[in-house]
Amino acid sequence: MFKKSSGIIRWVILVVILGGSVLIHYLHLKGGANYPSVHSICPYGGLENLWAWLSGRANIQKIFSGTMVLFFLTIVFALVFRRSFCGNICPFGALQELLGLILSRKIKVPAALDKHLHKVKYFVLILSALMAWVTLSLWLSPYDPWAAFAHMFKGEEMLEEYLIGTIILALTVVAAFFIRRPFCKYLCPAGALYGIIGKLSPYKILRDEKKCKKCGICTKKCPMDIEVHSCERVTTAECISCNRCVEACPGAGTMISAKFAALSLKPAVAVIASVAVFFGSIFVLDSAGLYRVSLPTQAEVAEKGEYIKIRDLRGSMTIEQGAFYTGKGLDDFYKIMEIPSDVPKDTQMKHISQYVKGYDFHQMKAKKGSE
Ligand code: SF4
Ligand code: SF4
Repeated sequence: MFKKSSGIIRWVILVVILGGSVLIHYLHLKGGANYPSVHSICPYGGLENLWAWLSGRANIQKIFSGTMVLFFLTIVFALVFRRSFCGNICPFGALQELLGLILSRKIKVPAALDKHLHKVKYFVLILSALMAWVTLSLWLSPYDPWAAFAHMFKGEEMLEEYLIGTIILALTVVAAFFIRRPFCKYLCPAGALYGIIGKLSPYKILRDEKKCKKCGICTKKCPMDIEVHSCERVTTAECISCNRCVEACPGAGTMISAKFAALSLKPAVAVIASVAVFFGSIFVLDSAGLYRVSLPTQAEVAEKGEYIKIRDLRGSMTIEQGAFYTGKGLDDFYKIMEIPSDVPKDTQMKHISQYVKGYDFHQMKAKKGSE
């Protein structure tokens, strides 16, 4: 019973998270700054912001303090549950697995090539972290296929701001039909980071060499193509703790099991526990006011009178929202930001350039920052 239910539960969780992510991205693009952007709820943005945070500077563009909280949460999560974030929570991993269901026959990447391709994600991790820290920006963002995906409701932005990310997204989508989780295996820097940290976790998949019938079902089911049937303990950083190997094994619990230290976990329990701990932590942090990943609502600002500086304006805000959040009158705001009065007030700040040739919102912010 547990064997089957764990698979269903995991799929339901992945589909709900993927659907929820798409909804949040849609609301952000249509509804503006009160909904979190893809960057503010991507834990990897926290790593890119780490240097700014450690050196006491302002958060880099599009990052909120809650993004840092989310980043540290995923680090602790990896220490406890290895790459369970990848296996049971990440919406981009879910998207790849769903696409992988369409064609059952998969290509086996030649072992020598596969070995080298796996290393690329560690290179992406090091390069992107260093470049983000040097440039104090979300350096990886234009190349990020998930950021591109999150902008699918605004085709022009997807193709202008995220052209390379869109190309990588298209390649990933096509590859996912033939290769299981191609982006997770070869390119994702977050997966690389969680894999390294997860090596310290007490959570593991163990196979009993004496009882195992060597049928190879576990290996066949593994979305990361790990040769489960030939190792007694899955120690590789590639394992995403999805429990599919345990769930598929006819001798689950005796021949192969998921263990947390000495405690044996049924696949369904392992999946539910990790997801519950992750979202439960977010709920607790949010209740404690530590998980802010979007601007306060206008009602909250009006109630508390906590206005922001021009340097903290977001490109996704409309001119009218910008005036409100900075506590300026609308006419004054137009003057301060040097916006011609014929630009409609519901124009997003990052799109003023569509009406005023050469208008650079970020430069204007820098110029008027402390006002
Ligand atoms: S490897 Fe990256 S894309 Fe894949 S599941 Fe993990 S975080 Fe998501
Ligand atoms: S070894 Fe098992 S738990 Fe790890 S990725 Fe493969 S199927 Fe999932």
